[in-house]
Amino acid sequence: MNWITYYKQIYNKISPLTPLYFDCGELCNEKCCQDNGKGMILLPHEDEYINSLTTDFNIVKTNKMNTLFCTGTCKRNTRPIACVIYPLFPYLYEDGRLDLHKDIRGKNNCPLYYDDFEELSLQPLFRLKLFNVFNEMIKNKEVYQFLRMMTDELLTIEKLAK
Ligand code: SF4
Ligand code: SF4
Repeated sequence: MNWITYYKQIYNKISPLTPLYFDCGELCNEKCCQDNGKGMILLPHEDEYINSLTTDFNIVKTNKMNTLFCTGTCKRNTRPIACVIYPLFPYLYEDGRLDLHKDIRGKNNCPLYYDDFEELSLQPLFRLKLFNVFNEMIKNKEVYQFLRMMTDELLTIEKLAK
């Protein structure tokens, strides 16, 4: 499996996508980028593609997952997948059902987490295109297992937050 080619195709598909019709960073002064110290979790082997690019990202690897730290600015087409899809996350349930949900981690920093204003509703095409991309990606066993693990973790965090 050539992961660099794999992720190059994925990035080409999702990098131009935006949650709203305008730059949502204007709403919150790019809060998620200001919070970058918390780190962005990478998908399996995504680090291999990122390392093939010229960036100033720092990737910390553990047995369980790889986490990317940034300086708070980056080039749009090199944003990790976690940043492009935020505040959504692909939840993959035990029965194999895939659904894009608001990520509980967005509760404290992302205005798009809330549905109070119609103007802040996520573009339907943003969800649909991401769904199609992840639906293809979960055909890979490593991606499938990773999203299953992350979904269980996020569901536990949601339960504890109630
Ligand atoms: S994704 Fe959320 S936190 Fe990040 S820039 Fe957009 S509105 Fe702000
Ligand atoms: S990698 Fe880029 S998009 Fe993601 S938090 Fe850092 S500056 Fe923002």
